[in-house]
Amino acid sequence: MAAKSKKKTTAKKKPASAKPKSAKPAKAAKAAKPARAAGTDPKRVAAILAKLDEAYPNATCELKHGNAFQLLISTILSAQCTDVRVNQVAETLYKKYPNAEAFAYAAPSELEQEIRPTGFFRNKTKSVMGASKAIIEKFGGQVPRTMEEILTLPGVARKTGNVVLGTAYGIASGIVVDTHVQRISNRLDLTRNEDPKKIEQDLMQIIPQEKWIQFSHQIIWHGRRVCQARKPKCVECNMESLCYSKDKTV
Ligand code: SF4
Repeated sequence: MAAKSKKKTTAKKKPASAKPKSAKPAKAAKAAKPARAAGTDPKRVAAILAKLDEAYPNATCELKHGNAFQLLISTILSAQCTDVRVNQVAETLYKKYPNAEAFAYAAPSELEQEIRPTGFFRNKTKSVMGASKAIIEKFGGQVPRTMEEILTLPGVARKTGNVVLGTAYGIASGIVVDTHVQRISNRLDLTRNEDPKKIEQDLMQIIPQEKWIQFSHQIIWHGRRVCQARKPKCVECNMESLCYSKDKTV
């Protein structure tokens, strides 16, 4: 029988000279990275959230928009560009293209020139037109209200999805991880990851869901006004006593 022959083959012993399994120090050291940043103690996180509320009680999205669709388009245009520049472009853009139909059937070469000041204008034109077409054809002209659906639009990833769902619809689907949130979450030791998707997962585990939308806006405001990339203004920061970042300037 098959069972008998199996027993014979498994009876083999390892030679006495075989090296013990523990002889892999390099890999073991790499795996020692903590799964969670040390700064995620619930009391500390609550203190950070309270400080953010104190400093930025009215933080909101700085992209001007009249509805969810305009916010979606402006968010696509804001990649690698400032909100100020996008707002300048958007002012005339939404007069000429008031809805998804207008963008979907625009002349690509004209639209390219109109959004050129925001950079990466060829790709952004494709995304804007593609997203507009999909909104008309698949979603009855409305920007969808779930992350799963909004991610099917061309040029839309989780960051854009979170901006639109959170700001336009008040739906806390996740946390916006842009360059500011990425930098400051690390400085505040709320994560030790660099990848935006992993950072978002880390933050979603430690921030209460009802704070997700506001937290995103507040950290982005903090990054623009105080905790800037090159020289953070730590003397002006109300979280200074909670922060032990190596980037601190005080
Ligand atoms: S103390 Fe400095 S580095 Fe820390 S969060 Fe405040 S501004 Fe940023």
